[in-house]
Amino acid sequence: MQLKTTFNRVTNYKPFVVDRVQFSENDIELWIEVTMRPRENGLARCSGCGMRCGGYDTMPQPRRFDFIPLWMIPVVLIYTMRRVNCPTCGVKVEYVPWADGKSPLTAELRWFLAGWARRMSWKEVSSCFGMCWEYVYNSVEHAVSWGKKHRDLSGIESIGVDEVQWKKGHKYQTLVYQIDEGRKRLLWVGPDRTPKTLLRFFRFLGKDRYSQIQFVCSDLWQAYVKVIAKKVPDAIHVLDRFHVMQKMSKAIDKVRAAEVKQLKADGFEAMLKGCRWVLLKRPENMTEKQTIKLDELLQYNLRSVRSHLMKEDFQQFGEYTYVPRP
Ligand SMILES: [Zn+2]
Repeated sequence: MQLKTTFNRVTNYKPFVVDRVQFSENDIELWIEVTMRPRENGLARCSGCGMRCGGYDTMPQPRRFDFIPLWMIPVVLIYTMRRVNCPTCGVKVEYVPWADGKSPLTAELRWFLAGWARRMSWKEVSSCFGMCWEYVYNSVEHAVSWGKKHRDLSGIESIGVDEVQWKKGHKYQTLVYQIDEGRKRLLWVGPDRTPKTLLRFFRFLGKDRYSQIQFVCSDLWQAYVKVIAKKVPDAIHVLDRFHVMQKMSKAIDKVRAAEVKQLKADGFEAMLKGCRWVLLKRPENMTEKQTIKLDELLQYNLRSVRSHLMKEDFQQFGEYTYVPRP
């Protein structure tokens, strides 16, 4: 089977045809050149509006477009672009199905690189396939903007709001995900984590869509809590259990520190010393020594101990399942 047959099999570039496929090489590398030409009497299409129009002229130099490598051998498409005289757009370069604008990448190569960039780092993709990093970046950018243009934002019922730190932790970004069963994806990213940030997300989604949201999951960040209550008041707001527990641990720490101070003043200093983790840890994670210490502490009616017991009670809250009545 010839390379030409293979190439025709994997592409659909009508009304263009493969003129010839040949190996080419210099001192450093070997590559495959696929030279394209328009079919006999094939009218060119305007790249501005897509209309078939009469020819104007042919560019002096052929253009080169990178295709998917074959057996790790680079494949280059070569074609001399024509210009058309479009009644609507004026003199325009023709439309070709394998590339757009001034990009030196064929659509096939872009999707190929973007596909691999989902599995490996961009740097790895670039070194694996012998492409420059900009090619990978460009391909991902293209795939993302294509995806954004074609995505369907209907039927979103559950969202998750989260923040990430970047620039060494000095800046925040707000991320909103769709977290519906069977459809989990990143919906939106915005700078900062202010009420305005999240309001922008709701504006982006539009009232028709966000009024269908039934569940929102977020942490306890006040800006989010406020905006969620305002924009989707009927949705069930699920607070991240981890963050609630974090707040609780902080509160226990505060109670313990105050009590240690009090006990010290009253001359019972030793009682709560070294028991910070005993009060914060889950019983199943404790060392034997910590378990003994906890048993000892539980005998006293201390505020620290009571707060610990309340935290333990609250843990069950997370395992509680709601069974609706039939
Ligand atoms: Zn046109």
